[in-house]
Amino acid sequence: MIRVTAFKDRTVAVFGLGASGLATVRALEAGGARVAAWDDSVAGRAAAEEAGVPLVDLASADWSLFAALVLAPGVPLTHPEPHWTVEKAKAAGIEVIGDVELFFRERAATCPQAPVIAITGTNGKSTTTALIAHILGSFGNDVQLGGNIGRAVLTLEAPAPDRIHVLELSSFQIDLAPGAAPTVAVLLNVTPDHIDRHGTVEHYAEVKSRLVANAGATAVIGVDDDWCRRIADTLEARGRTKVRRISVRAAVADGIYAQDAKLYENGRERAALDGIATLRGAHNWQNAAAAVAAVEALPERFHAGGDLQAALRSFPGLAHRLEVVDKIGPVDFINDSKATNADSTEKALASFAGDIYWILGGRPKAGGIATLAAYFPRIARAYLIGEATDAFAATLGESVPFERCGTLGAAVRRAADDALAANRPGSVVLLSPACASYDQFRNFEERGDAFRHLVAERVAGRASA
Ligand code: ADP
Repeated sequence: MIRVTAFKDRTVAVFGLGASGLATVRALEAGGARVAAWDDSVAGRAAAEEAGVPLVDLASADWSLFAALVLAPGVPLTHPEPHWTVEKAKAAGIEVIGDVELFFRERAATCPQAPVIAITGTNGKSTTTALIAHILGSFGNDVQLGGNIGRAVLTLEAPAPDRIHVLELSSFQIDLAPGAAPTVAVLLNVTPDHIDRHGTVEHYAEVKSRLVANAGATAVIGVDDDWCRRIADTLEARGRTKVRRISVRAAVADGIYAQDAKLYENGRERAALDGIATLRGAHNWQNAAAAVAAVEALPERFHAGGDLQAALRSFPGLAHRLEVVDKIGPVDFINDSKATNADSTEKALASFAGDIYWILGGRPKAGGIATLAAYFPRIARAYLIGEATDAFAATLGESVPFERCGTLGAAVRRAADDALAANRPGSVVLLSPACASYDQFRNFEERGDAFRHLVAERVAGRASA
């Protein structure tokens, strides 16, 4: 755990008592601060009490006693409207910050040279963060991974000169961390997302751009969308930060780019990604190129002599993102449960050249799957589940043979039967639902785990048959 000393002997209001909120309370107390913790939900307050966190009803508290409000990133700061605690903090004239800000203040106070890589972007954050940590770890470094992935940042080990913190940051976390100045910042891409929480795409892009603008040494920026291209140009013109560009569309003069599953720098091949199942698809080439650029932007001692190709090849990947859960004969079974919208599912469909037995459906998002029509010729057959069944059946129409399966269990059985009967090399049974899971599962993780179990049963059934 990191001790946060910035508020020693003062009182801090902490609102939102999930994992990161509870860690914040402990980190502040360990650093000598008093804490007034609260949560709107009964469950949140119960969890806090169980963890021994003293509760103070912030609705009736005297805010003149507080030095700051530490807000959980899930709580609205500006949109659709500021949370009531934010209004109270404003009225009291105190700052509103998050746990990531506390991390960076402690680093500034105790070890400003401690290496930190922070990663943001609309898509690919978790994959890139995990890959950077994996590469640095396989080069023998002391690596701490957390933030918006895995562990809350304040539960990690403290910053140190030879310890690298690799932090995934959401736009909400950046919005609450004006002092976030990582050694290396990565901005992968910007597409309209979370606009309900940021008001406009302009504001969303501006929040994301703050992270790279504050990078101490290097900003790694994917320049395949207009927002990021402008951000890279502006930053370079300002001249304070080194800019390294990433592209999977075109060669870039000052960075790393990908073509046909290979990474290049200045026309020279740097690494091959073909055959690495966890880095399949052009979207993952973007993640890999950014990861390599970020690692190499650190001082030499953290990467000199490391076997980059071996590190990429051994990347285990993340669950629920094009995860190969098993193989029966020539058929790969792929769990892409994280794909909760058509954009994400498009990445999956684009990643496979063979026949796709596609399981999709759940609670549909606006727009449905109409944008995926270009990939329909790759679909051998589609298996529909959940609330989206009628709408998706209408979109698939005559172009794709499909059946209504209702449940994931039925869909896996039917898709496996068909794929195994066809027995064609390179074919996949792909769960990439393009839908939220909430009609039938608690979340996408539960849906992906269910898929994994169903496939395991099938494998076991074949073994005993
Ligand atoms: P995040 O943490 O930003 O949500 P993940 O690494 O968890 O990103 O990937 C989530 C999904 O986003 C993946 O399943 C894939 O469909 C898509 N994705 C991953 N990387 C990229 C990328 N670089 N560009 C566009 N989409 C991506």
